[in-house]
Amino acid sequence: MQNIAIFGATGSIGGSTLDVLSHYPDRYNVFALTANSRLDELVKLCEQFKPRIAVTADETKKSELAAKLAERGLKSIEVWAGQDDLVKLAALPEVDVAVLAIVGAAGLAPTFSAARAGKRLLLANKESVVCGGALLMQTIRESGAELLPVDSEHNAIFQCLASASDAQRSKARIILTASGGPFRKRMDLSGVTPEDAVAHPTWNMGQKISVDSATLMNKGLEVIEASWLFGFPADRIDVVIHPQSLIHSMVEYADGCILAQMGAPDMRTPIAYSLGWPERLDGFAKRVDFAALGSVTFEAPDTKRFPQLSYAYEALRSGGCASIVLNAANEIAVEAFLARRIGFTDIARACREMMDTLVMPAPRSLEEVLDADHLARVKTREVIARW
Ligand code: NAD
Ligand code: MG
Repeated sequence: MQNIAIFGATGSIGGSTLDVLSHYPDRYNVFALTANSRLDELVKLCEQFKPRIAVTADETKKSELAAKLAERGLKSIEVWAGQDDLVKLAALPEVDVAVLAIVGAAGLAPTFSAARAGKRLLLANKESVVCGGALLMQTIRESGAELLPVDSEHNAIFQCLASASDAQRSKARIILTASGGPFRKRMDLSGVTPEDAVAHPTWNMGQKISVDSATLMNKGLEVIEASWLFGFPADRIDVVIHPQSLIHSMVEYADGCILAQMGAPDMRTPIAYSLGWPERLDGFAKRVDFAALGSVTFEAPDTKRFPQLSYAYEALRSGGCASIVLNAANEIAVEAFLARRIGFTDIARACREMMDTLVMPAPRSLEEVLDADHLARVKTREVIARW
């Protein structure tokens, strides 16, 4: 029986994880659930899964959470609160697996904590790899933690690289697939609303990643993520648009052979793979019907309409804090876009402006990563406020 702690349990990945876990009650125990501030949803999940610990990231809501749990007769669940408790939970000896499904750079501290404590990390929070990649990979090597990528593309690459030797990897090329998002065919992006942007054609996800998919920032973050997770330089990572989301990504070897991982677009599959690895659990996601699918297509990404994809390559190549700055500028700009304070194309504009003005040396510790992230957020808010 393995104890599972889900960071970001009320989100889209959190929900898919709980759905997978509910199929394997004899194998996995839901040990802890965390949420930001949607307490009612957290309490509902506590009622259903009866974890030992419930955590709200918002320290001011601790007593409110305790009262809500008590109201439902769930007094035995321990109530924790705040960033420090998230960090403490990730390192708790009873926790075997940490599912890192918090959105944004807020996921950095718990991710690093789980890595330092040598846990199995089911890592969905790509922003922590984008911001702290070098340090995170070093921490994992030193602690002996296991990192299983949940992001579907990286889960696919992990599978396609499984039998490769170091020599083979050193000459291989990663081909990341992208659905292209809701605006693949929309030429004029000036009037895009938040409602248009979150309507993703093939995946059902949280708001922030849905907007990132619409700008192709998501694919850009995934290029940086792939580079750190698999040790591939920017020039051996390609992106191709593949609207049907059948192929989740590919690896091309030196001899020209290409391995592709396929499946229905359902996050429960990479989650179950990561939970069960190196075994394979019996899946319950929809199976691919090739005959019904008919054809699959590919096209090049349009970096004129979606410049954030090229900004990510630029950030990866320039090093320093560029990826942290890009990620923070994007998070703040997406928040402003969703609140209707700026337009859709202003998201890329904010990223460009911050990358041009804020240049810092590479961080040497998690604290320096968090400082750079904080500074970039403050500066982005100032820039947006001036527009
Ligand atoms: P979501 O918005 O649906 O859920 C986010 C979760 O994080 C919620 O439980 C929320 O309570 C929690 N949270 C938000 N802000 C927080 C904070 N400041 N402190 C602590 N907790 C906080 O997001 P999602 O779509 O589930 O995505 C989660 C992560 O997984 C993201 O990094 C995303 O890029 C990645 N991811 C998601 C998908 C997907 O299909 N949804 C696919 C691949 C990768
Ligand atoms: Mg992905």
